[in-house]
Amino acid sequence: MCGNGDETLQHFLLDCEKLEGTRKIGTKMLAEIIKEIHPLGLLLFNTREDLTQLIMDCSHKNIKRIIQLPMDAATTPYRKS
Ligand SMILES: [Zn+2]
Repeated sequence: MCGNGDETLQHFLLDCEKLEGTRKIGTKMLAEIIKEIHPLGLLLFNTREDLTQLIMDCSHKNIKRIIQLPMDAATTPYRKS
């Protein structure tokens, strides 16, 4: 798409300059949601692999390990009041 690097899933989600505008919007939304769950927000995701996993499937067991939700919050669907 941009010609820089391999066209992997990770490249499209995290790096591709052609998708920068879309990624900025999505990242802002994601950061706000994660910050409501945990005060450190996206800072919890130290590796590119963890961030890719979050974007692809936020219900994955690895994401629950990173965020460490309290049991009631982990079983209650997210609801914005
Ligand atoms: Zn690209």
